[in-house]
Amino acid sequence: MSRISILGVPIDAITREQAIERLADMLVSERQHHVMTPNSEMLVAAQKHPAFHQVLQRSDLNLPDSQGIVTMGRYIGQYVPERVTGVDTVTALCAVLTEADSVFLLGAAPGIAEKAAEALKAKNPHLRIAGAYAGTPKAHDANSIIARINDVHPHILFVAYGAPKQDLWIAEYLQEMPSVRIAMGVGGTFDFLAGAKKRAPLLLQTMGLEWFWRLVCEPRRLPRILNAVLVFPFLVILRQRSDVVAR
Ligand code: UDP
Repeated sequence: MSRISILGVPIDAITREQAIERLADMLVSERQHHVMTPNSEMLVAAQKHPAFHQVLQRSDLNLPDSQGIVTMGRYIGQYVPERVTGVDTVTALCAVLTEADSVFLLGAAPGIAEKAAEALKAKNPHLRIAGAYAGTPKAHDANSIIARINDVHPHILFVAYGAPKQDLWIAEYLQEMPSVRIAMGVGGTFDFLAGAKKRAPLLLQTMGLEWFWRLVCEPRRLPRILNAVLVFPFLVILRQRSDVVAR
């Protein structure tokens, strides 16, 4: 259903509302699911990182997190209805969860996951938070993190270690946490929810200029942003031309 491909990476061309419906279906399924929020930089990174590319190909849902994906998808004739960000999806999902489902927040700087959990709980008093913990994506910390998660058996696990670390972590360890139905890599979501970082004003978001806001707030992101706004469109156009020549 509505899966397109950009630079060899499957993207689910769905709306925010459809994304929540898909997540709700996953929660009642027997199977475990890995949900990713690919953005333009991640698609560029995947070209040089085969293991990450493979994880993107195997995940169950790839939400179009960046405006670049929406725009370049349309450029190559693959319709992507809208941008579906990690932070918006986490917020919308937590608003519709019942007390039957519990959530664990893993990652970000110490104290941030707890603050993000408090913010989610303040907005959604019925929300069941199973736990919140910074941890680290390092392999030698994995056993203790997994034990901590298994102690409280959450149904949803949000992981904020940045890409590709968060998704490599999920791909490697998800099956060791049997209660988890959905594990989702969420990037900087906890920072936004905790108020440690501010999202771009709505006008910039709707103009597709959130990347510019992040550049102003965090100039050290320049190399990543250049990958997103220059290298990514360049690679997509190049791939499109070589596909046309090969046909
Ligand atoms: N992070 C972490 N451990 C690491 C690397 C990153 O907890 O080893 C966290 C970082 O604190 C931030 C998130 O991962 O909360 C990634 O944020 P970033 O802004 O890079 O993600 P984006 O929103 O761009 O995907």
